Amino acid sequence: MKDTCPSCTARGIAPADTRRRGDRTVDGYECPRCGHTWATVRDLTAYSELHARRAHNRQRKAAA
Ligand SMILES: [Zn+2]
Repeated sequence: MKDTCPSCTARGIAPADTRRRGDRTVDGYECPRCGHTWATVRDLTAYSELHARRAHNRQRKAAA
C-alpha cells in the first residue's frame, strides 16, 4: 500500500519492503525525494472484516 512521506509529504510512495507478522503487515518505505525512511504497521483485520469473521469462527470451532 502506498504512503505519504512524513518528512516532505511526497505522495504515492510504494513500500520498499513488506513484512508480514501474524495479522499485521509492516511496510518499510524510503522516500525518493528526501531520503527519509519510515515504517507503517497495518492491522489486516481492519481492512478485511470478512477475513476477521472467518478467523473468529475458526477459533470457536477449535475451542468446542
Ligand atoms: Zn520525503
